[in-house]
Amino acid sequence: MSETAAELRAANFIGGEWVPSRDGDVYERHNPWRPSEVIGEFPSSTAEDADAAIEAASRALRGWAGLSGAQRGAYLRKAADVVEARVEEIAQDMTREMGKPLRESRIEATRAAAILRFFSGEGWRPVGELYEQSAAKSLVYTRRRPVGVVGLITPWNFPAAIPTWKMAPALAYGNTVVIKLAQDSPLTGLHLVRALEEAELPDGVLNLVIGSGSKVGNAMVTDPRVRAISFTGSVPVGQGVRERATKLSKRVQLELGGHNPLIVAEDASLDKAVEAAYAGAFWSAGQKCTATRRIFVAEPAYEDFRERFLERIAQGKVGDPSDPETEVGPIVSESQFDDVMSGIARGREERGTIIAGGDRADPDAYLIPPTVFEDVPDDAFLSCEEVFGPVTTLYRFSSLEEAISRANAVPFGLSASVFTSNLAVAQRFVDELQAGILHVNSQTAGADVHVPFGGSKESGYGPHEQGRAAIEFYTEEITVYQDV
Ligand code: NAD
Repeated sequence: MSETAAELRAANFIGGEWVPSRDGDVYERHNPWRPSEVIGEFPSSTAEDADAAIEAASRALRGWAGLSGAQRGAYLRKAADVVEARVEEIAQDMTREMGKPLRESRIEATRAAAILRFFSGEGWRPVGELYEQSAAKSLVYTRRRPVGVVGLITPWNFPAAIPTWKMAPALAYGNTVVIKLAQDSPLTGLHLVRALEEAELPDGVLNLVIGSGSKVGNAMVTDPRVRAISFTGSVPVGQGVRERATKLSKRVQLELGGHNPLIVAEDASLDKAVEAAYAGAFWSAGQKCTATRRIFVAEPAYEDFRERFLERIAQGKVGDPSDPETEVGPIVSESQFDDVMSGIARGREERGTIIAGGDRADPDAYLIPPTVFEDVPDDAFLSCEEVFGPVTTLYRFSSLEEAISRANAVPFGLSASVFTSNLAVAQRFVDELQAGILHVNSQTAGADVHVPFGGSKESGYGPHEQGRAAIEFYTEEITVYQDV
């Protein structure tokens, strides 16, 4: 364990104190690259711990909401400095706890600092609009106010970026927070909460509870004091969260799974398309909501693309995620590994042909090499459902219309790419592809910190996250008629 990790309290953070779970239960988290190595013991919290955190957040709300946006931003700026100074430690811990290759963990930890810095400046922005009343010259204005106590529920796959892109705007706009981190990657989130503690955030403004979704997450979703829930995770869990939360008239924001297509037109630069397909499908072992799951290649370019893609896979570095050269590391846990392997088995059963990978690549680590299918029917499991690992499928198409319609033929709508040198093809893709994030000549994954991020169809619900778009979810807009 690194020094900072040893100093970090593997505990809940409630009302400004690091505390164990009320009943003292803990669970162990193991390194997915070397599963016999224990990363640490973390609290296995219950609804009682969530209750204490919600109470602390409720008590802190008035004071925090009463500060100016600029005053709140100052705390975020200090936290950004702390995170920036610790990028390497955070990245190392991220890699050990969930197997993300170090090169990507470093980028993600750096991004967390950038997100904090972006939102530290949002407090200087306008908080409303000024009008004249129609019947008299008196004023009427709008004003954005915090929503209240917000509950944030995050997945394990971006343990620095996703908690940060929820906590930073929630705090910047004057809400107090209860966050539940995923049990598979709590250590990275502990670094972030620690950074905000070191920025001297007032007690109770930010509260962390580590534990299961069914106990802690559900308690947050069903507690009437929590006025909004921002959730990132899988479609079925997210839909259940939405159902329970909206019954209580809460605001709900969901960022869910994807089944993201990449279309390679006949006139595409194949070198660029191959590189983007590799990165999109296999970096982070395909454990990204925006990973490339389906690659549609124009018939005349298919054989050439296929050959170059297989060559690129043969050159890729797969293995120890702590090696900075590694591109594809292990799957996060044994149960996720089993899910991915059963997705691969199902692809085989449903007439898919494996042309790369497909088998476990290490007796110890949960390692699956880049796996590519072809000949998979459009209605087969692999073509329709998210398999959350380094697995992608090649399809041929003969017209752009066909490619777009097959790309759209899933309930998901998170991200999509086209590779083409023809502006008309790019424009048609942008007009017709059903997804919240579109890429022309770049991979399906990747998100800048200052622009909106979110999916359409079953991939998202509610206002988008990140950038200036975050104000929609984390504030409510009121209208004030002001007569003299
Ligand atoms: P998951 O749905 O299993 O869990 C997400 C979070 O929800 C975890 O913190 C979990 O503990 C919690 N949870 C589970 N049951 C709950 C309940 N009943 N009530 C409240 N909370 C509950 O997802 P995961 O396996 O952690 O993450 C992988 C999934 O997340 C994939 O489907 C991926 O596509 C998706 N994802 C989406 C985005 C996006 O922005 N669209 C980003 C990253 C991941």
